[in-house]
Parts: sequence; structure tokens; C-alpha cells
Amino acid sequence: MRISGSIRPEKEEMPATSMPAFDRAYSGGGERVSMATAGIDFASSYRLSIGGELVEAAESFDVYNPATGAVLAKAPAGTVDQLDTAVAAAKAAFPGWSRLSWDEREGYLTRFADALQAQSEELTTLLTLEQGKPRHSMAKGEVEAAIYWVREVAKRRLPREIIEETEQHVVETRSTPLGVVAAITPWNFPVLLGLWKIAPCLITGNTMVMKPSPYTPLCTLRFGEIAQGILPKGVLNIVSGGNELGQHLTAHPDIAKVSFTGSTATGKRVMESGAVNLKRVTLELGGNDPAIVLPDADYKDLIPKLFWAAFGNSGQWCIAIKRLYVHSDIHAAFVKEFVAYARDRKVGDGMDPDTDLGPIQNRMQFDKLKNLFADIAANGYAVPLGGTIDESRAGNFVPVTIVDNPPEQSRIVQEEPFGPVLPIIAYDDIEDVITRANQTPFGLAASVWGRDKAKAYEIASRLEAGTVWVNEIHIHGIDIPFGGHKQSGLGVENGREGLSEYTNTKVVMTAR
Ligand code: NAD
Repeated sequence: MRISGSIRPEKEEMPATSMPAFDRAYSGGGERVSMATAGIDFASSYRLSIGGELVEAAESFDVYNPATGAVLAKAPAGTVDQLDTAVAAAKAAFPGWSRLSWDEREGYLTRFADALQAQSEELTTLLTLEQGKPRHSMAKGEVEAAIYWVREVAKRRLPREIIEETEQHVVETRSTPLGVVAAITPWNFPVLLGLWKIAPCLITGNTMVMKPSPYTPLCTLRFGEIAQGILPKGVLNIVSGGNELGQHLTAHPDIAKVSFTGSTATGKRVMESGAVNLKRVTLELGGNDPAIVLPDADYKDLIPKLFWAAFGNSGQWCIAIKRLYVHSDIHAAFVKEFVAYARDRKVGDGMDPDTDLGPIQNRMQFDKLKNLFADIAANGYAVPLGGTIDESRAGNFVPVTIVDNPPEQSRIVQEEPFGPVLPIIAYDDIEDVITRANQTPFGLAASVWGRDKAKAYEIASRLEAGTVWVNEIHIHGIDIPFGGHKQSGLGVENGREGLSEYTNTKVVMTAR
């Protein structure tokens, strides 16, 4: 099965979601949401997961609901000592866990997936409350996809292979686990990106210490708590806290690998500090993805797809379309129709079933967008939709904004905005647009759209990116590797290649 991540179904196609009682009771403003269930207690205070125990921290930090600006909960601020204890617990758990068979580890992960499924409604609500994304579409999709990932990745194997067999000897290769893996995650898809790391890490026999983003630690703390009732002690540890914990983990001598998703700037620091003991690193970093619409494209049909691929999760997506190049034959008409579609999308609180796009997750990102909007205004670029942030509104709301044909060297084209703003750029010449699409330090993903499939495919072959979609977008799969070229990353997640990155290749040669 493959999942499509961004293309949000039109409302009439959506299955009706029956909202549980806690949703109806939710009224924003930082109220505690009562979510007691047969599983873990979602109304309890948040604690770290270390060595199979739920552990308090001496200090805490506030986590905000981005739709209201109010404090949603207090998260434990783990200390460096607690992080060291978590690494020691993961190290102690490693020999036992790695000696289990793949089938035994699959059994644990399947039970973990079942337990997540049993509390998926609570996780979905919490995801919307801490991250902001609409509950009925994006949060639900993220939680469901993440659970599916755990279940399916658990079925994958990296079997021994005999690569040479002669009269003298037999040569076999094995994929052996690395040891303790540090996982560091960002705030845009905390559930999916967290479980994308946990499943392959654990099925291959490693143990883990995970540090979520300080902006969105709550779902991660909860799924860590769920895991403690299922996994052996120390196999999965969760420590929330500030960026300094991430820094400490990446330099820790007992960490064998860092699996990091976040910005390119932080990714470079991870690589630098990981050099201390030659840690393996997988880096999933930023992007500035181009989409190229060819002159023969049925662009009217494409507009909803392209809109959601750019604005889904309010643009806070590494693989969001961030530069939309449209041939000048159709550019003016395209912009007009795109604006008409975009104008009808509702920006609001993700708990409201009518909301299409939620708020910006945090104030730091909101301020970055304000600065970018000021640059767009100062340069007088044409803005046929949006462009003005209403700061009198509570919550980090940014309007859907379209910038019509800004210069190639403008900030809005060159930078990764990570917000609901899209430049639609005209081009005349295919060779020129390929050059422009590739003229970036990033190389995460790209897409090409046109009726002439052979032409579109040929252009796709020339784009410098880890994934290029042709006439479709944002399809991910368990067996499809995903990773960035150039400064968008190092290594991949998913697929056999992604699984292999949690292992060493070991050769055993036996004389006859
Ligand atoms: P970020 O780099 O600021 O933070 C990511 C994580 O790193 C957080 O948990 C943070 O606490 C931690 N961290 C911060 N400083 C650290 C340090 N010195 N050492 C170790 N860890 C440290 O990124 P963000 O703002 O949370 O996320 C947004 C960025 O992530 C965007 O650039 C986006 O494109 C990228 N992203 C990439 C992918 C991908 O798969 N390629 C997916 C999602 C997000």
C-alpha cells in the first residue's frame, strides 16, 4: 500500500468522523482535555520514559496551543543527567533486544501498533492541539499513516545472503544492528516522523533514545508512555527538553547513530558533533521544492492538487511545493484560477471541522514569516491573495498568500518559507526552467506536470532531487526510499535502503 500525504480529500469525499466526547467538550484556551481511556491516561501529567519507567523532571516548560496562544500543557524538561540515564538504559537493553529474532521483535512492534490504534483518537486530538493541523483531515491522516508504518515496517526483513560459495569457503553478508540510536525530530509531523524512526530502528535490533522538538513534545511523550507497557525496559526511551539535549545526544560516546529530521543548519551541527565517535547519521533536512507545469498541462484539473501540495499543513512541510513554475502561455489564467480556489480555503483552529488550514505551529516560525512578508511588501511584488498578517487575532494565523511572478533572486523564491505562501513564477523556455529549478543548494523533491508524459518524464530525469513525481505528488510508501540530495540531507528513510541505514554490513567467511 502507498499513502498519499498531502492531497486532502474534498470535504464531500471525506468519511464522516464521529467526534468523541472530549472533542465536543474542547473549548480551547488551554483547558485540560479529559481523555481517560482503558489504555494510558491522557489526562495525567507528562513524564519522561527512561528504562521502562515514567520519570518526573525537576523542571518543566510550557507547550502552547498555536490556535489560541494559550498554554496547553507543561512538558518535563529532562536534564543532561536524565539523558545519560536514558542512554545507559538503552545500552543495557541492547544485547537482549538485538538477540531476539526478527519475528519476536515484529511481535512487540505489532502489539505497539495495536496499542497506538486503541488510542488513536486521543493522539489525533492531542496532535491538533499541540501542532495546529486540522483534526478531521491532516491530524487523523498523520496518526493513521504512522500506525500503519509501525505495523508494516515490522514485517520487513534484511536476511543473510550468501554472496560467494566455492570449494574453499562460504562468504555471507549480514545486516547487524548498530547499538543505541538517537532520534531527533521536528515540530511539523511529530507523530509520523517519530514513528518513521522508531519502527525501522527497533525491528533491525537497535534500541533508541528519542528527543522530540520542544515545540511539540506531547504526542511523543504519550506514545513513549504507551510503548513502556509493551516493549522491554530501555528499548525505547523518550526525553523531552531544549535544543541542548539534542546537542548532548549527538556528541554522546554511547550513541552509535543519529537519525535526525530538521533544518539544514542544525543537520550540519549534528554531523559535526557526531564525528567524535564516527556516528552513522541519517539527515532529513530542508527543501525548496520546485513544481514545473508544462504548457500542455490540464491545469484547471491540477489546481486543487497543486494547492494542497503547496499549502497542506499550512506549508509547514519539507516537501511542500515552494516554487511553482508555470509556462507563460498559461501563467496569467493559471494564477487567476489558483487564486479563486485558494480564496475559499478557511484558515482557523484545527479543532473546528470547517478548518482547511491551521495556524503556524510556533512563534519563532510566525516571526520568520512576518519578516518574509515584510520583504515581499517592501519590494512591491504582486500579491493577488493574502499578504497581510492580522496580529490582533489570537493564535499564529497567517493567511493563504500568493505572490505573482516575483524575480528568481527574491527571498520568497530562494528561501524555504515553511508557511502558507507560494510564488507562482512564469517561464518561457524549458531549458531555462530546468536550470532555475536546479539552481538551489536544496534537493529534496520536485514535480513535473504535463499531458506529454514522455516529455515530463525526461524533464524529471534532469531534476536534482531525491524524489521527483510526474503527474502525481506526495506519494510515500514503506518500500519507497525517501531522502534529500545536496544540502537536503544524507541517506534515506523507508525502503530497504532506509532499513539498512540502521545496520552495519558484516561479512562472515567460513573455510570449507
Ligand atoms: P530544527 O533543526 O530547528 O530542530 C529539529 C530538532 O533538532 C528539534 O528537536 C531541536 O530541538 C533539535 N536541535 C536543535 N538544535 C540542535 C543541535 N545543535 N543538535 C541536535 N539537535 C538540535 O528544525 P525544525 O524547525 O524543528 O523543523 C523544520 C525544518 O525541518 C525545516 O527546514 C524542514 O524542511 C525540515 N524537515 C525536513 C524533513 C525531511 O524529511 N527532509 C521533514 C520535516 C521537516
